[in-house]
Amino acid sequence: MPYSTLKDSKADFVVAGEGEIPIRKVLDNNLNYRNIQGVYTLEDLKDDNTLADGNPILKAETVMDLDTIPMPDWQALPPASYPHSPHAVIARGNPIGIVMTSRGCPSRCTFCSSNNFYKGIRQRSVANVIEEVKFQIKELGIKELQFTDDNLTLKRDYIIELCNALLENNIKINWSTPNGVRADKVDKEVLKLMKKSGCYLIDFGIESADNQILKNVRKGETIEQIDMSINLAHEAGMITQGNFIFGLPGETQETMKKTVDYAVHSKLDRAGFFALRILPGSDLYKKMHKTCQTDYSHSFISKPDWIPDNLTEEKILRTIQKAYWSFYFRPRRLWNLLNDIPVSQTKYILKSMINYHLFKLW
Ligand code: SF4
Repeated sequence: MPYSTLKDSKADFVVAGEGEIPIRKVLDNNLNYRNIQGVYTLEDLKDDNTLADGNPILKAETVMDLDTIPMPDWQALPPASYPHSPHAVIARGNPIGIVMTSRGCPSRCTFCSSNNFYKGIRQRSVANVIEEVKFQIKELGIKELQFTDDNLTLKRDYIIELCNALLENNIKINWSTPNGVRADKVDKEVLKLMKKSGCYLIDFGIESADNQILKNVRKGETIEQIDMSINLAHEAGMITQGNFIFGLPGETQETMKKTVDYAVHSKLDRAGFFALRILPGSDLYKKMHKTCQTDYSHSFISKPDWIPDNLTEEKILRTIQKAYWSFYFRPRRLWNLLNDIPVSQTKYILKSMINYHLFKLW
């Protein structure tokens, strides 16, 4: 959506794709942003995101070796100045350091924009990642680490090497995967090693407990496989979190109920329930953007961008509210959660509950 980004932001130019190479060129060019691959102004574009001359948009050049990108200037973006929970999860320590080890995902879930945005799968070397982790601990005083990859455990050899490197370097820090990992990309051995190296919370992108819906969105996993990995993570001693989306293609009142029932009775310790967003770059966006109402000013929970034929916005939102209450008002979960919430995060969590209208029906 380069056109609407430019129009809404009133920026001078937009980069289609990853920004490092074109922004460097703009800076080297005395801020002249003309004739740089992937850089466009409003005059270059039509509102259907094609070029004014009718050609498709050409994306920016991509950095293939992520180790060549310098570390972010963390001193200018000190983690201590971030909100208490950058990924809206309950954290054990603050400040929280954010590190990304890779870009890209080979899966093609239709609601996700990752595979269309990033070019191929690229990973930083483990040595490069460890250098940044050490820097954030020593220089920025981070007390928790969040790996924000789309899929930290995508390559088994890599996650094993990373965990071993954390252990060998005697890096003792709580870490988590708040962006979610694929349940079919972990196994007992990997989960145990992750836990040993400091991973206390693992987040799974589950989406639905109905296998037909998982198939409709090309998730490539079944709820049985997902459930097995949740149980293994639980046995490994991690806090397990699952994220669900309501209102995916094929959703009905029955499938929503099935998902809530599954979540409530699963071994998950925490869950996030969200309404469907139609993300630019996703296959759903390509298919539906002309007929759905995308408004990115609201939260993931408060308004679906698209509603299946047999549902209404109200039914989806009521199910989300009900899901949160039924999931968390179980003695084990509530007790663990209350024990896990640091005092510094209580205000933030209450505010989120109000923003998400979780008190509205009760
Ligand atoms: S939802 Fe996760 S697994 Fe699916 S395409 Fe996106 S990043 Fe990959």
